Amino acid sequence: MALTLSQPHADIFIPDGRSLDSVLRQGVTHLGIGAHQDDLEFNAFHGILSCYHVPGKAFAGVICTDGAGSSRTGPYGHVSDQEMRAVRQREQRAAAVTGEYALLAQLDYSSQQLKSADNARLARDLAALISELRPGVVYTHNPADKHETHLAVFSATLKAIRSLPEEQRPGKLLGYEGWRSLDWVIDSEKTILDVSQREHLFSALAGIFDSQIAGGKRYDLATVGRLCANATFGNSHAADAVSRASLALDLTPLITDDSLDPVEFTLGFVDRLREDIRTKLGNALSL
Ligand SMILES: [Zn+2]
Repeated sequence: MALTLSQPHADIFIPDGRSLDSVLRQGVTHLGIGAHQDDLEFNAFHGILSCYHVPGKAFAGVICTDGAGSSRTGPYGHVSDQEMRAVRQREQRAAAVTGEYALLAQLDYSSQQLKSADNARLARDLAALISELRPGVVYTHNPADKHETHLAVFSATLKAIRSLPEEQRPGKLLGYEGWRSLDWVIDSEKTILDVSQREHLFSALAGIFDSQIAGGKRYDLATVGRLCANATFGNSHAADAVSRASLALDLTPLITDDSLDPVEFTLGFVDRLREDIRTKLGNALSL
């Protein structure tokens, strides 16, 4: 089996040392596609957890950017772009070991490339990975995210899946929270992913990304806060069913119906939020 990736320094890492052929023969059940090192651990932990020590399940991660442009302060303030690229790729490999991923692909594009015509090359890499790994569920950035590189990865992921024949497409596409929470989505349209189990595994994975956390952003604390808040504020009446929850948009309609416009599909969630506010507030004001 062949897996050709377009960037010269694209890296495929198989934590348990099996051959690439053997991993591809077996395939994976869950695939996370993230723009940056750490995006999957903080935002697609549900996929990692769903496969961790579960017979017959396997998680693979794809990181699209090279990490060179990461923000840095404090102990990492003096680190050059090229050094930072190495640090971030090393951290991501450590996370793949800790989370026992079947495979990690670091595609090594600059953020600029992803936001240019090279986005089509990323889409081809992702199509190759998806058709070879044959995941049932794919997690990627949600289309209402506010980070342009995240949106570029969402766009390439959608293009990649839509380029594949129906039988090679995943059964489910989920858009996870990142640079924008999904608390605003109306309750009936939220996909709630239980990530209550193995809090220690989440902490272990989060703690690997020292360059980001000691580098000035407490993603570890902020993400736990978000997951706990999602679990508690998700329903104002019922007792908490889970202690930590990730929220996602179910994007599967976009890969079962190629005529669906991603912009209109995404704005539909906003329109229904508007209607929900209009109805509830209108009712209260008419009392
Ligand atoms: Zn990111």
